[in-house]
Amino acid sequence: MTAAREDLLAKGVAGLTRAEAEDLAAAFGVPRYRGRQLLHWLHQRRARSYEGMTDFPKALRERLARELPLFSTRVARTHEGRDGTRKLLLALPKGDAVEAVLIPEADRRTVCVSTQVGCPIGCTFCASGLGGLLRNLSPGEIVEQVLHVQDALPAGEKLTNVVVMGMGEPFLNYAALVRALEVLEAEWGLGIGSNRITVSTAGVLDKVARFAREPVATNLALSLHAPNDEVRARLLPRFKKVTIAEIVAAAAAYRGATGKDVTFEYVLLAGVNAAPEHAEELAERVRKIGCKVNLIPWNGVEGIDHQTPSEAEVRRFEAILEERGVPTTCRRRKGDDIAAACGQLRRTHLEEALQA
Ligand code: SAH
Repeated sequence: MTAAREDLLAKGVAGLTRAEAEDLAAAFGVPRYRGRQLLHWLHQRRARSYEGMTDFPKALRERLARELPLFSTRVARTHEGRDGTRKLLLALPKGDAVEAVLIPEADRRTVCVSTQVGCPIGCTFCASGLGGLLRNLSPGEIVEQVLHVQDALPAGEKLTNVVVMGMGEPFLNYAALVRALEVLEAEWGLGIGSNRITVSTAGVLDKVARFAREPVATNLALSLHAPNDEVRARLLPRFKKVTIAEIVAAAAAYRGATGKDVTFEYVLLAGVNAAPEHAEELAERVRKIGCKVNLIPWNGVEGIDHQTPSEAEVRRFEAILEERGVPTTCRRRKGDDIAAACGQLRRTHLEEALQA
């Protein structure tokens, strides 16, 4: 196999641009337009095997089925929450798994996707980082999560939004992220507009600046989690060199450059960052730039020693921000009963597998 063909295969069919799909067709010795047809079948006509691609000659369909896996992930489990949240555990080719979640809310159908297996950041409250980073996902493996979740929707419903808030740090798998977004946003792909996509980062600020210049730039969520550098260093020890001032400046610059929405995420942890004085300090830091704060009361993770604040504490925190003119939302605990916080279903599944 030539290096170029191998490179295309590594991206996965779902991770290819139209030009690359044409190149792949050529590498298979068939006319280039077959590459465009292939992506049309996959993204627009929702073919899930070569068999259904009826305008492909039978011999070609059979050969593709032997030589070119259409999908590299498969749905290993589905968990349904009482609130309609649905979590898919997707098995990867060489073992292990990633999670993708469907979050239905009013007329929105949002999919939450992962970019890495595990995560190298190791935020002290997060399940994804517990076992460190195993590997980056390919562009195809990122796009496939969206395709699988779309397939899980009732007939007639369409995905409306994407949040890159699953396992992993998206900006540490930058090239695959940008490619996956290209496919998700393209008219020939899934046609999901960049204003309906949000990428969340723990604070890889050099990549935030670079992302602002990409044609695929989306809305941005910055995981702040603390009102000052001392508290943040405790929660994200490996990111202690990144200061709150730098993150706030990066938020303002990103919004200025792209015109996209920028949100600060703030996980509320009792006894750590959820006291009224933390809210006051946070308001002081973010008020001037007018970005929204999204509060996330901590979702308990087995084996992690943190506490979720009481509802009263959460409401007080929210009220202090609002009173000081900071637009605030609070992510009530969607999908809690199916372990929807990052990395939790995968861990539960791995533990079950280990015990079996
Ligand atoms: N690596 C990216 C995406 C992670 S997930 C980032 O850090 O932004 C999206 C958000 O969920 C992040 O703000 C993350 O800190 C938060 N999060 C992780 N574990 C959580 C938990 N157990 N409860 C509540 N929020 C959590």
